[in-house]
Amino acid sequence: MNRLKNKIVFISGASSGIGMACAHAFAPEGAKLILAARRKERLDQLAVELKEKFNTEAEILSFDIQNYKEIKESFASLPEEWKDIDILINSAGLAKGMQKLNEGSPEDWDVMIDTNVKGLLYLTREVLPYMVKRESGHIINLGSTAGHDVYPLGNVYCATKFAVNAISQSLRIDLLDKSIKVSSVDPGMVETEFSVIRFFGDVERAKNVYKGVEPLTPQDVADAILYCATRPKHVNINEIILTPIAQAQSNFVVRKAT
Ligand code: NAP
Repeated sequence: MNRLKNKIVFISGASSGIGMACAHAFAPEGAKLILAARRKERLDQLAVELKEKFNTEAEILSFDIQNYKEIKESFASLPEEWKDIDILINSAGLAKGMQKLNEGSPEDWDVMIDTNVKGLLYLTREVLPYMVKRESGHIINLGSTAGHDVYPLGNVYCATKFAVNAISQSLRIDLLDKSIKVSSVDPGMVETEFSVIRFFGDVERAKNVYKGVEPLTPQDVADAILYCATRPKHVNINEIILTPIAQAQSNFVVRKAT
């Protein structure tokens, strides 16, 4: 415990799922947290909870990650000493719909590409120069098994996660001479709000995604992220792919009759 005492950890997507689980996993390690998402009231509540439990210091940033101007202004509003971020966890992301490409919605494609690819780039662009200056830091991107192999009707979401995979690999090369770590944590099925959002609030359809399978929990994924973040200084975990035991790759799942 306290392995990350006073380290500044920026978590995008902290209002739900894996990002929120990271906040709960990093707080007891003594980290100071920057919690970011659009739903500010959830972040406020999370910050109060972590303060009570672990005396965690936290800053809250509410922005739409699709909007570079909002990110820039939000980041600029941080107290100067909070801008030297030690670990950036890029968890904000989403899927919208599952359709064949010829029937797909360009509006949904825009949201996925603008959030998962451009949003991740925008935020990293703001944080990274401070890490480069200090020649120290760690970027941890939430990829997916969908960034390694595609599944039916997953076309554009999979494309965004292939892009995240490429960005992680490229960043690792760009930053090689700066002692900055880059890790990609790539889960299979995790039960969060992800499927409810993918299916536009259809909770029943979302539940069916996990029918007959024990999915990963957001805590399982946060545990893998914490592992990446707590290795010795000279060790970089490039990639962790984790799936439920009933899943191999994106597309092979064994379901028990329920
Ligand atoms: P989640 O519970 O739906 O959480 C998604 C988070 O992203 C929320 O905090 C949400 O916050 C934030 N977000 C979405 N759009 C945003 C925007 N425009 N601006 C700012 N923040 C935004 O889903 P999750 O499962 O934790 O997903 C986290 C990451 O894991 C994503 O990158 C996802 O692709 C990846 N992943 C998930 C799974 C899975 O099966 N769940 C598997 C592999 C990879 P607000 O809505 O409050 O803004």
